[in-house]
Amino acid sequence: MKLVFATHNKNKLAEVKAIMPSHIELLSLDDIGCTEDIIENGSTIEENASIKADYILKKYQVNCFADDTGLEVETLNGAPGVYSARYAGDQKSAEDNMDKLLDELKDKDNRNARFKTVIALRLQEGKNVFTGIVNGKITTEKHGGKGFGYDPIFQPNGYDQTFAEVSAEEKNNISHRGRAMQQLIDYLKLKAK
Ligand code: IMP
Repeated sequence: MKLVFATHNKNKLAEVKAIMPSHIELLSLDDIGCTEDIIENGSTIEENASIKADYILKKYQVNCFADDTGLEVETLNGAPGVYSARYAGDQKSAEDNMDKLLDELKDKDNRNARFKTVIALRLQEGKNVFTGIVNGKITTEKHGGKGFGYDPIFQPNGYDQTFAEVSAEEKNNISHRGRAMQQLIDYLKLKAK
């Protein structure tokens, strides 16, 4: 079965390709000639994942899935959440986003946070949603040079290192995205039986 992953991100695609069951031919947006940026104007990450997947299914009539991720900080009532990518502003970098969050939390004792990934699956015959969560804490300083985004300031529970200090494989085993992807894969495998 051909399945489109609604992403232009080659790293994400390679990561997911490596763990997809063999009966799935995974394609990217570039593979189907979709070069436009899909406007993610939902007010939750669930909505944004659905907006992307619905758009691709409607326009290209292909089986597909889309993911969306947010970092939710307890003492900030779940912020930056759906705004994680542009927390410090539209033109700002991951460094700026981390600096803003560290600043917001500088006097706070409660540093609990979680990453949440939602995957919206759209098959011709129906739709599904898969959610992956990893709980942890926001550190007081940046540590590590691996990964991306908020990884240098996110320490998963049970670890004394941030996501930016562990290997990609280790992160994938326990991460929000890894967990959501595993549910998607288990579902696809079950359907193929
Ligand atoms: P996206 O939905 O994958 O584009 O993620 C939204 C934002 O959340 C990104 O811009 C990143 O800043 C952040 N983010 C997503 N996944 C991760 C992760 O695994 N580690 C750190 N930051 C992440």
